[in-house]
Amino acid sequence: MLKPGSVIGILGGGQLGRMIALAAAELGLKTHILCPDKDSPAFHVSEHHICAPYDDFAALERFAAGVDVVTYEFENVPLATAEFLAARVPLRPGAKALAITQDRLAEKSFVRDLGIETAPFAAVDDLAGLEAGVAALGLPAVLKTRRFGYDGKGQVIIRPEEDLTAAWHALGRQSAILEGFVAFEREVSVVAARRADGAFQAFDVTENVHREHILHTSTVPATLSAGAARQARSIARAIGDALDYEGVFAVELFVVGCGADERVIVNEIAPRVHNSGHWTQDGAVTSQFEQHVRAIAGWPLGEVARIGRVEMTNLIGADVHDWHALLAEPGAHVHLYGKDEARAGRKMGHVVRVRRDPEACTNIPEAGC
Ligand code: AMP
Repeated sequence: MLKPGSVIGILGGGQLGRMIALAAAELGLKTHILCPDKDSPAFHVSEHHICAPYDDFAALERFAAGVDVVTYEFENVPLATAEFLAARVPLRPGAKALAITQDRLAEKSFVRDLGIETAPFAAVDDLAGLEAGVAALGLPAVLKTRRFGYDGKGQVIIRPEEDLTAAWHALGRQSAILEGFVAFEREVSVVAARRADGAFQAFDVTENVHREHILHTSTVPATLSAGAARQARSIARAIGDALDYEGVFAVELFVVGCGADERVIVNEIAPRVHNSGHWTQDGAVTSQFEQHVRAIAGWPLGEVARIGRVEMTNLIGADVHDWHALLAEPGAHVHLYGKDEARAGRKMGHVVRVRRDPEACTNIPEAGC
């Protein structure tokens, strides 16, 4: 268990690292950030940082010597980096969560082996494999690179009659996974926390709307039956247990079926705090960032109760120019990441709006979930 005053090392210096560092400071903890980008927003709020590539082992050695625990804000931390650090200092979450979630095929296989539903899928290593996958799954289907995909990058939808050779080339002829196209009703996610001893808490299920493959709004409560919400939380718990997970993670899900047939199926696991959990900063008793710090410190998890109806809207690119009007809006909680250039598609900040009617808090997760 960490003592107040301990130092949390964070790999990655983006807005997620920044908000973890801010939450750590609230709890009397210090942070040390390692990130190759000299303009990292997390550097602004942390006493210590090292600007170095993730494979600079001399820098990693110095970093490890200055921290009590290491965590990460993104899932593409090189495994060699994770293992080097884990040999020197506790790494939370551990390297297993990284190894599985870095590879979409390993991730989907892991989820399926837990008896949890995913889109039907097939491994694709060459054009013949793609043809075999299409014969098995049919079209439309989604072809995704196994590694380094995010925000819709590294994937193409293949529609009926489309040329498979073109799709294979469009993806850069790299190892891929073919997924059956899921005609989902909605997209939702569960953000949950687990400690090493198995203690577990999940925030309310969040409904997510994407624009151009980037999260635009998260709304809580999600439009979801109580049964499907329970299913979502128990899926998160099973995944957390199977990964021996420590910290906060998110499970992105598709809602399929209607009425009594409504259920969720897993799309993706993020082994980190997640954009769809930002609403918790102002809309729940404990924020996902504080919860992550508590979990990796071995401290009691915080209460996850929601305090009203909540909507989180991302400020993408030029949206951030509205900052002044948003600040003037009664009750809007504005979070800005301190990034200089409002490039198209860049996450610059977010706004959380909470409607505190007591009715809205009725579907708080059952104790202990
Ligand atoms: P991903 O990078 O896997 O999170 O996918 C990005 C987005 O593409 C998801 O949020 C969905 O909107 C869509 N998508 C991904 N996989 C599928 C699928 N198998 N069927 C339908 N839509 C999908």
